[in-house]
Amino acid sequence: MATGDAWRAWYERNREHYNAYQREYARAHRPERPTLTPEERREHRLASLRLWREAHPDLNAASTAATNANRRPQARARGERITSQDVLALWQRQPVCVDCGAGRGVDHVIRLGDGGSNTTGNLQNLCKPCNARKENAERTLPPDHPNFERARKARELRHRATTGVNAR
Ligand SMILES: [Zn+2]
Repeated sequence: MATGDAWRAWYERNREHYNAYQREYARAHRPERPTLTPEERREHRLASLRLWREAHPDLNAASTAATNANRRPQARARGERITSQDVLALWQRQPVCVDCGAGRGVDHVIRLGDGGSNTTGNLQNLCKPCNARKENAERTLPPDHPNFERARKARELRHRATTGVNAR
């Protein structure tokens, strides 16, 4: 008989007595510190999370950006996931937004909806305002607009120029 089986058999026979003993032991050795209310526990959790975020601002921002990208339905459907490390590497290659030279973000050069992949080769550092401007421009340009494809190609070329993805 394996040790685990022997223990289980013993436990089945002594369950009631054993559990009562455990409860009594826990009561006797309860810590001095008063039990935290759920509200206090929540506050502690949030405070420690806040501390971690403040201590790791880049990793925290990268993790949020990766999570947002991975949440996109096209990325999920194709099982294409980027990691926080992928985003950190991108920000090392492109320290600032490729459009405005300030800010920081993660953008799919070729939109996921246009068949772009959720992989490092299709990412660029584009800050939120620039991303919104890009989305807006694309939304106002219907796909059959004569400039639509040219705008998309221009973005792609700019991306290649700034990432050197093709040069390597
Ligand atoms: Zn920008």
